[in-house]
Amino acid sequence: MNKEFLKEMLNTVSVTGNEEALQQKIIDYSKSFADKLMVDPMSNVISVINPKSDFRIMLCGHADEIGFRVTYVDEGGFIHVQRAGGVNPKLYVGYPMQIIHEENGKYNKINGVGVYTRDLLKKSEFDESDLLIDIGANSKEEALKLVSVGDSVCADTVVRELLNDNFSCRALDDKSGAFTVIEAGRKAKEKGSDNGIYVNTSTGEESSGRGAYFASEGIKPDCAVIVDVTWASDYPGTDKGTTGDIKVGGGPVLCLSGMVNKKLNTLMQEIAKEKNIPLQYEIAGGRTATDGDTIAFTGNGVPIVLVSIPERYMHSSVEVTNWKDIEQCIELIAEFCVRIKKDFDFNTLKI
Ligand SMILES: [Zn+2]
Repeated sequence: MNKEFLKEMLNTVSVTGNEEALQQKIIDYSKSFADKLMVDPMSNVISVINPKSDFRIMLCGHADEIGFRVTYVDEGGFIHVQRAGGVNPKLYVGYPMQIIHEENGKYNKINGVGVYTRDLLKKSEFDESDLLIDIGANSKEEALKLVSVGDSVCADTVVRELLNDNFSCRALDDKSGAFTVIEAGRKAKEKGSDNGIYVNTSTGEESSGRGAYFASEGIKPDCAVIVDVTWASDYPGTDKGTTGDIKVGGGPVLCLSGMVNKKLNTLMQEIAKEKNIPLQYEIAGGRTATDGDTIAFTGNGVPIVLVSIPERYMHSSVEVTNWKDIEQCIELIAEFCVRIKKDFDFNTLKI
């Protein structure tokens, strides 16, 4: 796997609704292995391998990240924001921030900080209206020379390597998953898969599911593998009774849920056993809270399997995942793309 490309993805802001800068980089990267590249009006990127095959596997990881969008600049030059996705605004008080302003296809980064006062931190009901971004401007006019309503706002982070192959950054949800599907597609091609593989880095997962819907309706896949991050329970304050026993560095996580096709899970288990890839399990009583829910209900219905990367501190700026887990997810999914065949029986019942 090309670690440097994941780092580049993490350094490229893609707040939900403004994913183009990242998607453009993914297009450039995917040219090295895709037989065909497709885009659509939702800013999806779909890299196709074996486009002539009539058995289509969709691989989906979302390219968007949580953050904020600029709503207003006040007389003092402070930036006001609205949530984009499930983000907790209190986490950004006293935190390095960045605003991305697009002009003529170029993306300018403006440095800022989340306004901090001691009283703000004491506030129990903290809303998006309490978060202001200070870019150092002295007036509204000065700020508006650099920033516009609608610009993306998110934490200004760098990738930090931790012990035991763990690493930290914002937006590992789900750039680690988007990277995994890209690398799995690339590897499946190297392994000689003759199936149609449609690698979709989807948009809008954190806000609307718009990307996965458009992509899946366009591809009309026979089945789909979704890769997202999931809650680990290996740090203080977590509850294994509700989350399950999930460790960062413990291997890919398979989802057990009525939304997921059991036969696809079985195939994943067989491959993992043979390849010595440890598996972990999470339960979703209802929907999976991923693009998988959207994809499953497209067309005549799509059998899905959900492979998750275990993650600590989801939806914060210090999310933590593990390089080995990502590598194992890539191998598992690449092998899946080779082994599944057109005559695969998705049914769980016999007549
Ligand atoms: Zn996600």
